[in-house]
Amino acid sequence: NNNNKKPHIFLPHLVASLEDVDQTYIMIKPDGVQRGLVGEIISRFEKKGFKLTGLKLFKCPKDLAEEHYKDLNAKPFFPKLTEYITSGPVVCMAWEGVGVVASARKLIGVTNPLQAEPGTIRGDLAVQTGRNVIHGSDSPENGKREIALWFKEGELCEWTPAQAPWLRE
Ligand code: ADP
Repeated sequence: NNNNKKPHIFLPHLVASLEDVDQTYIMIKPDGVQRGLVGEIISRFEKKGFKLTGLKLFKCPKDLAEEHYKDLNAKPFFPKLTEYITSGPVVCMAWEGVGVVASARKLIGVTNPLQAEPGTIRGDLAVQTGRNVIHGSDSPENGKREIALWFKEGELCEWTPAQAPWLRE
């Protein structure tokens, strides 16, 4: 049968799927807030051209920190991690754009700031894994899950930035 054959006609909906708009949950951790890095960090995402759709300063309760990091709950550093995340206010953000999840991970840099490339947020602004200033979702699915976890529905804002036609043809 022909079911596995690739289509040889132009199917715009298939092409459009390569341009899917994703959402990512970005969070400036308590050390980033205490060190006065909020403006610097938000600025990097703004300048890149992604769209901010949610933003709040928030004191995270322990159960939310545990839910957010539940995949890591067997790790030896888990108690310290949830203590760190709840130790002061965090800045919760939802960002939207084509490829935003992977691109944000590149802007952020790898988990250990000493191994993160210069030019990345962790590479430029941090020195230790346990104080790595920022979180970013690791997949579009987790982006959606984490935004739903950290924001209530009315807290997100749908809008069209004036710069939109100057960012993408
Ligand atoms: P990332 O935040 O880069 O996606 P992980 O999902 O592996 O990294 O870990 C989540 C967070 O847990 C890290 O950002 C860091 O704050 C913390 N963490 C990870 N590994 C360690 C470790 N070995 N010691 C202390 N904290 C850690």
